[in-house]
Amino acid sequence: MKTSLILTTILAFAAMNTLFAQQTDNQRIPTKGFAVHEAHGHFQPYEFTRHAVGDNDIQIEILYAGICHSDLHHVFADWGAEEYPMVPGHEIAGRVVAVGKNVTKFKVGDYAGIGCMIGSCRQCDACKHDLEQYCEEGAVMTYHGIDRFNDNEHTQGGYSTAYVVAEDFAIKIPENAEIEKVAPLLCAGITSYSPLMQAGVKKGDKVGIAGFGGLGHMGLQYAVSLGADVTVFDITDDKRDDALRMGATRYVNVNNPEEMKGLERQFDFILSTIPAKYEPVQYLKMLKLDGQLGIVGLPAFRNMPSLTVAELVFQGPRHVFGSQIGGIKETQEMLDYSVAHGIYPQVEIIRADGAEIDKAYQNVLDGKVKFRYVIDMSTM
Ligand code: NDP
Repeated sequence: MKTSLILTTILAFAAMNTLFAQQTDNQRIPTKGFAVHEAHGHFQPYEFTRHAVGDNDIQIEILYAGICHSDLHHVFADWGAEEYPMVPGHEIAGRVVAVGKNVTKFKVGDYAGIGCMIGSCRQCDACKHDLEQYCEEGAVMTYHGIDRFNDNEHTQGGYSTAYVVAEDFAIKIPENAEIEKVAPLLCAGITSYSPLMQAGVKKGDKVGIAGFGGLGHMGLQYAVSLGADVTVFDITDDKRDDALRMGATRYVNVNNPEEMKGLERQFDFILSTIPAKYEPVQYLKMLKLDGQLGIVGLPAFRNMPSLTVAELVFQGPRHVFGSQIGGIKETQEMLDYSVAHGIYPQVEIIRADGAEIDKAYQNVLDGKVKFRYVIDMSTM
C-alpha cells in the first residue's frame, strides 16, 4: 500500500515535470533566419527557436540587420574554429513585441537595438565600470556564444526574424531615428565612437582614419562632428569623393607613394579599422610625439599585423591602444548622439535572401560596398 502510494507520487511528479518542460518548450520563440553550415558555406534558410521571454527580457521583431566585416571573419573561420550552423548578425534594429513582467525600460511597440553582446556577469570590476565587453567571466556574444544565463544555449544572431534579450543589454532607439540606418550603429557606430572618446578627440585635433569601410566612415563622421581635421586612408581611389563629401579634409590612397609623403608626426589620433595585413608602425610614425593610435580592425589570425618591441621603443612616447566595441552605457550614449546629430551609416539595403547575402559578402571582400549592407528582415 505504502509502496504504491510512493510510486503514484513519483509518477505524478514525472508527469508534472514533462508538462512543465512541454510548456517551457511551447513558450520558446520560433525564429527563421539564414545560416551557414560550414566555414565559407552559402547562406541557407534555417529555422530554430529562442528561449522563452523571461521576466527581465524583451522579444524583438527584427526589422534590419547589418552585415559587419566581423561576420565575414566568423563565417570564414578567420579567428579560429566556429560552431555551425551559424546565423551571424550583431547589428540589430527592431520593434519590441513582448516584455517580461519586470521590464521597465521598454514597452511593446518601442524600437530596440542589439549589438555584439547580450550578457555578462554584472559583478566584476569591468562590468561595474560599464565595460561589459571586457567582463572577467566573458561577455555572452550575440551569436557564436554560449548563453550561460539561458541553459548554455548556443546563441544565433540577427540575420533572423526575432531575438530575445535581457532588457539591460538592449539599446533604446529613439522613435524619430531613421530606423533602416540604425542597425550598423550597434557595432560599426560604437566601435568607432568609443576610441574617439577614449582618446579625448576635440575641436582642431588632427585625426586619421585608416580603413574607410563600415567602421571607418562612421569614425570619420564622429571625428568631423567633434570638430577634428580628418585625413582618411584607404587602398584605392574609389572612396575619395565620398570621404571628402563626408567632411574629410584629405584622402590618402596608401598605394600611391606620392600621397604618403609628408605625413610623419602630423596626427593627434589615428583610428585603424583595417581588416587585412598592414604595417601598424607606419601609422605610429605619423603621430605627434604624444599622439595615440587606436586599433579596432581585427584581421584574420593568418594575416595578423604586429608591432615589435623595437618599434614601440623607437617610437617613444606615442601611445597605442586596442578597443572592443563599447559598453552598454556608452552604446546608448553613441546612439543618442548619432540620432541627435543626424549621423548615420550610408547603407545599401538588400532583401532577406540567401543568394543576396552571399553576393553581399563577396562585394565586401571585393571592396564594392558603400558603406554597409543592411538586410531588410521584413522581406523574409
Ligand atoms: P569593411 O570591409 O567595411 O572596411 C574595411 C576598409 O578597410 C575597407 O574600405 C578596405 O578597403 C580598407 N582596407 C583594407 N586594407 C587596407 C589597408 N591595408 N589600408 C587601408 N585600408 C584598408 O570592414 P568593417 O569596417 O566592417 O570592419 C573593419 C575591421 O574591424 C574588421 O576586421 C572587423 O572584424 C573589425 N571590427 C572590430 C570590432 C572591435 O570591437 N574591435 C568591432 C567590429 C569590427 P576595400 O573595401 O577596398 O577592401
